Amino acid sequence: MNRSWRVFRALVLSMAGLLSAGCATQWQTPLKLPNQHTLVREQLVFHSDFQIPVRHRLIEELIARRGDVSRRLGLTLSDEPINVYLFEDNEQFEGYIWKYHPEYPERRAFFVKTDTRLVVYVQWGDRVAEDLRHEVTHGYLHSVVPNLPLWLDEGLAEYFEVARGRRGLNRAHLDLLTERLRRGDWQPDLERLARLDPRQEMTLDEYAEAWAWVHFLMESRPEHAEMLRTYLRQLQSEEREGATEPISSRLRRLPVPPERMLIDHVQHLAARGGGRR
Ligand SMILES: [Zn+2]
Repeated sequence: MNRSWRVFRALVLSMAGLLSAGCATQWQTPLKLPNQHTLVREQLVFHSDFQIPVRHRLIEELIARRGDVSRRLGLTLSDEPINVYLFEDNEQFEGYIWKYHPEYPERRAFFVKTDTRLVVYVQWGDRVAEDLRHEVTHGYLHSVVPNLPLWLDEGLAEYFEVARGRRGLNRAHLDLLTERLRRGDWQPDLERLARLDPRQEMTLDEYAEAWAWVHFLMESRPEHAEMLRTYLRQLQSEEREGATEPISSRLRRLPVPPERMLIDHVQHLAARGGGRR
């Protein structure tokens, strides 16, 4: 859905809200951030209009995931709060987003970083666990690594959105890439991914490839994971944006072309049955 259509839809929504004032219609849903309940767990500050159990297993998983991100990526995380706004349902979530952020693309959840705040907007639905793991991972990363390239930011979020214990194996992406390989229409290109404009929405194919590069780096060989950790540490301390040598150049120094290694990695995962649902 393009941006102008979303702006138009937001206008229609706000006009409908005005026209129906005083009537019991869906447009009267208060378009505001959830704020009746607040729950603070380590770096995460949850805001909701419904009570969340303090020991909810999903929240426990997000806390544990913080340790995973830190340990697996060799990052010392910050204590900067990540404000997580949990909308009770899709209607309240979309009503709020359409009204205040009509420029946002159509999604179930968002992570937003400003100069002063890290914020997640998410709706409590069937896929809230995956959405929270994804968006909160962005929060953990952005609280300590400035200038994270878009492909790596999304690739890591897609890796860590998978439930714990699956070592980042995102089956939907693996299926998609395996099918594209079978059809002969996928040629990985990390340099192209790295040139993507952060203001543009990534396609599903680009998300899948970003995940595959991250999974390859994290899971194929210890030296590849160490290359990623070194790169992230250097990004953390770089003095100006773009000063750190990209991962793609580092991979080019290896004896085998990185595209070949990535395709082998994906085919190996698929052969192990990782692509089956
Ligand atoms: Zn994301």
